[in-house]
Amino acid sequence: MSFDQRAALRAAAAEFVRREVAPHLQAWEDEGTVPRELHVAAARQGLLGVSFPEEAGGQGGDLLDSIALQEGMFEAGASSGLMAALFTGGIALPHLAANGSPDLVDRFVRPTLAGEKIGSLAVTEPGGGSDVARIRTTARRDPGTDCYVVNGAKTFITSGVRADFVTTAVRTGGPGHAGVSLLVIEKGTPGFTVDRALAKMGWHCSDTAELAFVDVRVPVANLVGEENSGFAQIAEQFVVERIALAVHAYGIAARSLELTAAYCRERETFGKPLIANQVVRHKLVEMHRRVEVARTYTHAVAARHVAGRPEDGATVIAEACLAKQTAVDCATYVCDQAVQLHGGTGYLHGTEVERHYRDARILPIGGGATEVLTDLAARLLGYAS
Ligand SMILES: Cc1cc2nc3c(=O)[nH]c(=O)nc-3n(C[C@H](O)[C@H](O)[C@H](O)COP(=O)(O)OP(=O)(O)OC[C@H]3O[C@@H](n4cnc5c(N)ncnc54)[C@H](O)[C@@H]3O)c2cc1C
Repeated sequence: MSFDQRAALRAAAAEFVRREVAPHLQAWEDEGTVPRELHVAAARQGLLGVSFPEEAGGQGGDLLDSIALQEGMFEAGASSGLMAALFTGGIALPHLAANGSPDLVDRFVRPTLAGEKIGSLAVTEPGGGSDVARIRTTARRDPGTDCYVVNGAKTFITSGVRADFVTTAVRTGGPGHAGVSLLVIEKGTPGFTVDRALAKMGWHCSDTAELAFVDVRVPVANLVGEENSGFAQIAEQFVVERIALAVHAYGIAARSLELTAAYCRERETFGKPLIANQVVRHKLVEMHRRVEVARTYTHAVAARHVAGRPEDGATVIAEACLAKQTAVDCATYVCDQAVQLHGGTGYLHGTEVERHYRDARILPIGGGATEVLTDLAARLLGYAS
């Protein structure tokens, strides 16, 4: 997209949030879910398929276009949980769009980008999420039929309660990363149950589910790419997911800063506005500095990812981990200071900075815990023993 097209997309995304999201967000937070109609409205506005190829029903843009869209939405008051719920397709679909058969693209990618279906990505299991190579859910070929039989369980699955289908990491081969495949499992398939909606500290409007699979028969046609290529597919898409979570982090931080600066101009203590205190102004500047560092670094890493120079490969994977960490540290500090400067108001349920403060806490855990990503970066940057 040209500079002007990107600016227009950002403005349209912000306008969409002001019109379709902001008036209802607190109610959705309280209900613990986002309505399906929002997916349809977002698709009509051209927001769901921005960075997906045109051949798969998307708009053919790139990661930088999708960052502009997300920034516009956060600027207008979208929450991290809302973005996780509305854009779950961003983690459930890229493997299908890149490696799935034309049939999988027609059945799952197109309708999801049109807002008609909801998809989830299920990797994490009750036994652990950080060590993806160790997943235990099995998919065994039933001899003489065109089916896999799936057994196992997944947990913490975003949009899993609402999902019509789940892109599921399963073990089709031996132990370790070489035995993992991706299989699309549809809601309603006998033996597949959504066990419960998990209550959380934040991301309240984004439903999170536990899934169980007992002798679930899944057609071989639902395999994404080659058998036992799942780990590589997951790892490849993780770069974009980590950059997206970095945008969540500095996006909610930037919004919290804006709300806090406005509050500090208005609120008076000891006979003068809060912002008249040098210590408060310096705090706001420090919040600003951290947001700008996170935003600039994330943009730089995203641009290198989009450029796709082969010699940058490993460094960009490492830098995506570090961009996420930088942005997450920024959100942790900025959202905390935003609550502090709002005083008691900042602690009240329903105050926007309170929501961002709670939502920020998932960001150093989801999409790869900071410790795990730092260790990955150590290996990729040559600091391992
Ligand atoms: C709200 C929410 C939404 C989610 N959405 C999804 C989803 O849609 N799909 C999906 O598949 N998963 C999802 N997850 C799961 C998420 O990706 C995992 O929670 C995350 O990867 C961490 O896995 P774990 O919780 O099993 O923690 P564990 O792997 O048990 O690790 C626990 C903690 O130990 C530390 N740690 C772990 N390994 C190391 C190490 N090697 N060195 C040092 N410290 C370490 C970290 O601090 C980590 O947080 C979601 C989670 C939440 C809470």
